[in-house]
Amino acid sequence: MSDRAALRPETVTVSAGRPAHVPGAPFNEPVTFASAFVAGGELEYARYGNPSWTALEEALGALEGGECISFASGMAAVSAVAALVPHGGAVVVPQHAYQHTLMLLDTGAAEGRFEVRRVDIADAAAVEAAMPGAAMVWIESPTNPALEVADIARLAAAARAAGALSVVDSTFASPLVQRPLEDGADVVVHSATKLIAGHSDIVLGAVATGSADLAERIRQHRGLHGAIPGPMEAFMALRGLRTLSVRLERAQANARELTRRLSDAPGVVEVRDPGFGTVLAIVLADAAAADRVVERVRLWIPATSLGGVESTLERRRRWATEAPTIPEGLIRLSVGIEHIDDLADDLLRALAA
Ligand code: PLP
Repeated sequence: MSDRAALRPETVTVSAGRPAHVPGAPFNEPVTFASAFVAGGELEYARYGNPSWTALEEALGALEGGECISFASGMAAVSAVAALVPHGGAVVVPQHAYQHTLMLLDTGAAEGRFEVRRVDIADAAAVEAAMPGAAMVWIESPTNPALEVADIARLAAAARAAGALSVVDSTFASPLVQRPLEDGADVVVHSATKLIAGHSDIVLGAVATGSADLAERIRQHRGLHGAIPGPMEAFMALRGLRTLSVRLERAQANARELTRRLSDAPGVVEVRDPGFGTVLAIVLADAAAADRVVERVRLWIPATSLGGVESTLERRRRWATEAPTIPEGLIRLSVGIEHIDDLADDLLRALAA
């Protein structure tokens, strides 16, 4: 194999994490169902390693430009990274982000383990003002479901200068659209359940970092807390990753075109589009108007997840735990790879009804 560093990311998604090209070898790392391995080798007990994880981690690590540690879920990855905050430390946190990330950090604060400082992550000056004395700056970009975009390079540099670790939850972008480690961030987190796996059939998380020390601490957390991915899930996430670039190409084109077609649609007060990625939001007058649209669509699937090949939508404030600053009438749209006319027709019909 030629030098991987010279390959384009789209090629890396296809070529990395494969067995060596030797006669008779399978193209794909097989699923290894094992709890233990014969003593004396590199692998001993399967809570500490499995060849099916290694293949996925090699591919994601090569894409992000660091070492990858895979987890049982995105939240397991988030928890392992949040555990890097020392007792009594402070974390700068977006006012809008995935609701369970916020809940996890708020729980840590309520238990007196650390202090949480809420900021508008799109307002770089405000984030910088909150950094002095902080141990970690948690960035999510684009944010779920407000779709704010952070200036990752600026915030990572400021965090480093302030002596804080910078973490980016890059789930809404994927490593083909955004590579935070290249922008200077210390750690990147993914819910690989979403765009990376891409088919709404598994739950899996991943962390990547350029620091060998942080990688070791995060790997040790995984081994001690035990939130390891299943080998089948790791295999399926890697299989999903193989087609990420073509899925993204179609879904991103669909998303931008939907923004165009929805901006003057009946009842749509606002379309939120970060300009990249596959998630949009439309804001309607109120909860009832938004609920009616969700009930009337036939092709779009009402569902809470995102990043799959199929388009899904959800009124986010149906969850009592969603931030109260998210409009009641906001519907998050996860745009898939269907034909744009079918997606637009279904939504426009539901909006006009
Ligand atoms: N981060 C973001 C931005 C998410 O949207 C989600 C889930 O929706 C998570 C993390 C958690 O990932 P998982 O559901 O794989 O645990």
